[in-house]
Amino acid sequence: MQLVNLKDATQQVSFTTAVKTGLGRNQGVFFPKQLSKLENIDALLEKPFVERSAEVLSHLIGDELPKDTLAEMVASAFNFPAPLKQIGDKQYCLELFHGPTLAFKDFGGRFMAECIGLFNQGERVTILTATSGDTGAAVAHAFYNKPNVDVVILYPEGKISLAQQKLFTTLGGNIHCYAVEGSFDDCQALVKQAFLDDEMKEKLGLNSANSINISRLVAQVCYYFEAVAQLPVEQRGNVHVSVPSGNFGNVCAAMIAAALGLPIANLSATTNQNDTVPRYMASGEWSPNATLESLSNAMDVSKPNNWPRVETMLDRGDFDKHEFYSRSVSESRTQAVMKEIAASGYVMEPHTAIALEGLTLDKTESAVGICLATAHPAKFKSSVEEVLGQEIAMPSVLQDALDKKCLAEPMKADYTQLKAAVFAKLL
Ligand SMILES: *Cc1c(COP(=O)(O)O)cnc(C)c1O
Repeated sequence: MQLVNLKDATQQVSFTTAVKTGLGRNQGVFFPKQLSKLENIDALLEKPFVERSAEVLSHLIGDELPKDTLAEMVASAFNFPAPLKQIGDKQYCLELFHGPTLAFKDFGGRFMAECIGLFNQGERVTILTATSGDTGAAVAHAFYNKPNVDVVILYPEGKISLAQQKLFTTLGGNIHCYAVEGSFDDCQALVKQAFLDDEMKEKLGLNSANSINISRLVAQVCYYFEAVAQLPVEQRGNVHVSVPSGNFGNVCAAMIAAALGLPIANLSATTNQNDTVPRYMASGEWSPNATLESLSNAMDVSKPNNWPRVETMLDRGDFDKHEFYSRSVSESRTQAVMKEIAASGYVMEPHTAIALEGLTLDKTESAVGICLATAHPAKFKSSVEEVLGQEIAMPSVLQDALDKKCLAEPMKADYTQLKAAVFAKLL
């Protein structure tokens, strides 16, 4: 796989290098130079999830990774299902929350851990990542107790749910957490700054686990195939997928899947009130506002890192511009949708409800709709219970984490402080 730095086309790297470096020169993200179609989509859709995923990834990554190695990596990373549930007439919900940390980030996090384990044998690695809520837990669990790996996680203090936070701050061992006084964008800016610091990079063997890292994105491509594979054959002709979007990694993966030939006719990237992209699509002007706090905190992002990748695909014609939609959903509509769908017997947390609203508003009558359920409702227990006025059950993994002590240390949104703290801890 040949990848190009989207800010400096002279930097072209292999998949291995892209995974090991994370971010390219000038803070540019890497993206495949070209995407070619799979030929045997129908036959592929008949295969089981793990086997099909290995084939999709092999097509994307190419001969850099032997097929049987890839098959083993996929088998250990994707050891939980992604069921497609019918929620209405020609309406489905793809449940991506059956992994160890109950959000879709487990797919990318676990596959990335497999890649790092393979590529960095013996070398020391420090994974530095900012989390808007769910990446932290997925990455922490994927790398917990792995040899030669330390994980440093920055999260915006008080801006993520207790369940989200406790899933990673209670692990200890090689997982080091900092509660940053600021927003997710502040955390993301600190991570970007660390990658510009050669001393940090060299002494720690720095890598990022954000959706900047291409290994996470390619892993996510696989569950879009799994969604279509679970549709009745006669419903695969006109599929509209809605993705609740924050950093725009997940929708980027959907677009890659479509570019490989998966029949996704229309795509909605639906945001909360942090609406930089919907405004950009309408006006052509990129003008991020200050990040606002919302019920769907994992989408409280105003400078989405993956937008350059999405825009590249739209510009290159990998996906038809006219079939891509992005709108923003208000807090009050989010709550109303949660109530409406609960009345029909399906409980959604706020991110998923936003995807459903995008689908309802963007989809044509005849299309088959799939909205992505990106997290388990219990991960947002207090807000879900408050909105619905009903109690929801707590899975045991979450209850166990909630009962443990938070080991995170407080930190200002200040790079000097971050560097000193991390050096003191790890060198
Ligand atoms: C991370 C996350 C999102 C946003 O996904 P992006 O890839 O950042 O757009 C949506 N919902 C949940 C529950 C998440 O954890």
